[in-house]
Amino acid sequence: MNVHGRPHDGPHDEPDPELIADITPDVMRCLAVWKFFEELDDRLCPADQSAAREECGGTFAISEAILRALGRDAEEFSDIFDVLRAQGGFCDCEILYNVSQENRLKAEYWRAQAAKLESPDTQSE
Ligand SMILES: [Zn+2]
Repeated sequence: MNVHGRPHDGPHDEPDPELIADITPDVMRCLAVWKFFEELDDRLCPADQSAAREECGGTFAISEAILRALGRDAEEFSDIFDVLRAQGGFCDCEILYNVSQENRLKAEYWRAQAAKLESPDTQSE
């Protein structure tokens, strides 16, 4: 899913795919143990409906804030985001849509898509 319609291929320093593949299982395990995806889901799609919801700006700004709060340092960020990008996570919301298996944001997205199919006012014929 490319929700922001950005081109995903940049000329900037291409990460080594073999290195990424190498570190992916360990990085993903760390992210799971740190509850990174839960925290990101909590910010973009809070379980508490009255809580303020943060908007993805097409960047990793929210993810970086979470990682920083977890005490990770900036040097780790590029490896982590390379791993996430390799799985289609090019920004905060795409991490949830494309990388994380299960989260409220993705569930909510598909619930809305399904609701559109059912609502009569979208049948334009
Ligand atoms: Zn996004």
